[in-house]
Amino acid sequence: NPLDAPTRVGEPSPEPAPIATVAVLAPLEKPLSYAIPPLLREQIQPGVRVVVPLGRRRALGVVLEVACGKDDGLRLLDEVLDAQPLLPPDLLNFLRRAAAYYHHPLGEVLRTALPAGLSSITTRVAILTERLYRPTPSSVVPPGTRQREVLAWLRERGEASLAEIAAQFPAPHAVLKRLVELEMLSVREAERRRDPFFAAPPPADARPTPSADQQRALELVLESLAARRFAPMLLHGVTGSGKTEVYLQAISATLGQGRQALVLVPEIALTPQLVARFRARFRDADQRVAVLHSGLSDGERYDAWRAIARGEISIVIGARSAIFAPLPDLGIIVVDEEHEAGYKQGEGWRYHARDLALLRAQRCAAVVILGSATPAMTSFHRARTGATAYLSLSERILGRPLPEVSLVDLSGRRLSGALAPELVEALAENLARREQSLLLLNRRGFAPFLLCRECGATFRCPNCEITLTYYQSHRHLRCHYCDYVQRPPQQCPDCGGTSLDPEGAGTERLEEELAAAFPGARIARMDRDTTRRKGAHQGLIEGMELGAIDILIGTQMVAKGHDFPGVTLVGVVGADASLNFPDFRSAERTFALLTQVAGRAGRGERPGRVLIQTYAPAHHALTCAARHDYLAFYEQEIAFRRDLGYPPFGHLINLVLSGNQPAQVESRAAELAAELDQVSAGVEVLGPAPCALARLRGRTRFQILLKAAARPPLHRLLAAVDAWRRKLPRTLNLAIDVDPLDM
Ligand code: ADP
Ligand code: ZN
Repeated sequence: NPLDAPTRVGEPSPEPAPIATVAVLAPLEKPLSYAIPPLLREQIQPGVRVVVPLGRRRALGVVLEVACGKDDGLRLLDEVLDAQPLLPPDLLNFLRRAAAYYHHPLGEVLRTALPAGLSSITTRVAILTERLYRPTPSSVVPPGTRQREVLAWLRERGEASLAEIAAQFPAPHAVLKRLVELEMLSVREAERRRDPFFAAPPPADARPTPSADQQRALELVLESLAARRFAPMLLHGVTGSGKTEVYLQAISATLGQGRQALVLVPEIALTPQLVARFRARFRDADQRVAVLHSGLSDGERYDAWRAIARGEISIVIGARSAIFAPLPDLGIIVVDEEHEAGYKQGEGWRYHARDLALLRAQRCAAVVILGSATPAMTSFHRARTGATAYLSLSERILGRPLPEVSLVDLSGRRLSGALAPELVEALAENLARREQSLLLLNRRGFAPFLLCRECGATFRCPNCEITLTYYQSHRHLRCHYCDYVQRPPQQCPDCGGTSLDPEGAGTERLEEELAAAFPGARIARMDRDTTRRKGAHQGLIEGMELGAIDILIGTQMVAKGHDFPGVTLVGVVGADASLNFPDFRSAERTFALLTQVAGRAGRGERPGRVLIQTYAPAHHALTCAARHDYLAFYEQEIAFRRDLGYPPFGHLINLVLSGNQPAQVESRAAELAAELDQVSAGVEVLGPAPCALARLRGRTRFQILLKAAARPPLHRLLAAVDAWRRKLPRTLNLAIDVDPLDM
């Protein structure tokens, strides 16, 4: 065993000696123990990072505990990296609990939680410094006008960096130099935060008086904050009912208590409007807002982490991984659009940020607000059973009506393009009235596939067994999973036929169809393809806000959270596609998407309307969405879940076995299922079956679904899974997905 290799300096002591338990940031099943060299004993405490020997290499770890024990030949720790714990005790406890819940190695959990610059011994992030200028108490008036202006501004502000001063006064170097010479300014070098978020905030916004519903919600928040108790609540509010305003005021109260706030959003790039509202509201010097997003460099992330840990940040806004932000006295966690699938991490440690929010809040006695117009079935069920408080905002602010929704039945009809005449007509009317329209088609590219008219062949990705999407703009076929690209062939490889046609429509084709139908209209498209470039998404949002776009088409990105008061028509082009997925949550997802997109209409002064094209007009996901009736949808859906033992009535764990050799994966999966069947008291073992994506990036995937009415037997069964996994050859990988979303 390489872990026991005898490289040690110093003698094993016969006396009890301090021993550190260390979670090494590697996929090990258990933490390891190390002896602490006398020189390092002072510095070691739980939560600091250390470098330890692991086999023949050195690895990074986090100290979990220090205790006295018998040192019989333990290896010695090499180095201590932090003077202060990088992970405060309650954050560390939370992560240990999370690792146990998800049955994932603690070292890997810590690696996921820490920013990249802090989780590897090879990346070292340089600490940058900058000069900060501060006025001295001198009462002398400087001679120059510019000098007086700069000084007055600085007196108001207290202290500012060169960059901040330069943003107000172009080329300030000479002035600053002179003011320092006159001893009217002092200078100091300070650690510089690489911080792209502290740009000039948007104009201040006024805090409106809460409505009666908002007031009720806020009272409960205040009461729980005052009692400093764990208080989970579901804030169920129709679109435009003022949920964000409740978050803002609840957070303001939390800051007033001297505690901090964490705001989770499904995807930060898609929520610039929400971020702007926070920055407009919290502008005081002691209310710093940090936004964590994927565009941050390692250095920026590292600096943000340290500033948060020092308590310098009052509000952290970020996507799912922000749940790990080390806020020292967290008082409230907001999970906006809590039903969104984006909160679930799809690979590695497959955590769900909403569920972790509940776990974390429990540990630090915080309030959690789960906000949504279409709560996840599990969240609503918890509210129903009293496990979380239920707060409802049942009306739009200022009594604005919800839009009128009509279903356009396509069954038995043949359309010439993607749009039914009813929708074309509605678009024409909206254009004539100079009002904005939004069209949802949840499929990007020109066409979902290229079809041979002669033999019916389509083209699949060689790595993923998924049809390749046709892009007219690039004249290529592309895989949406692995980005494999090929030129469209001239001839069908199966039959030699030469009529290969794009079949079906994606957003690219819809844009073309609209441009032909409405030559004068200003049309824009929002999907992953058009928003790859930095700032592109923001540009589209501004285009909508300024009225420079008449029709915005896009994938589900257009449905998310935007507040465009000018939109009075929403059209849904293909509502059924998501209903046909072989997943017990497909109705829930379809209902949520339709409700969300419908909610974009009529948010301003003029009322909105919604047209949904569908082949399944009688499906309850559509009829309930058309009536804005969440409760009716929930009742139907929950009955079906109860019958089949699906969440919230049962618990699931999905085991995904993958490898390069299909036959090997299949036979090993069968072996595992058979072994589990023997010991599965209280657990249903379903499968093995090919995953919905049976091949992904060249790897074959099989799944075994474990289902049980309670969690303990499920977790007991995982012990057997672990034992089996230890014997697995390296070519195979077994992933354990607790509470899976995609199956
Ligand atoms: P949601 O988050 O539920 O979609 P918002 O919080 O964005 O709703 O509120 C919708 C609109 O109503 C926003 O423009 C917001 O500024 C405004 N608003 C919210 N609460 C109030 C209030 N109490 N009085 C007046 N306007 C409000
Ligand atoms: Zn592929």
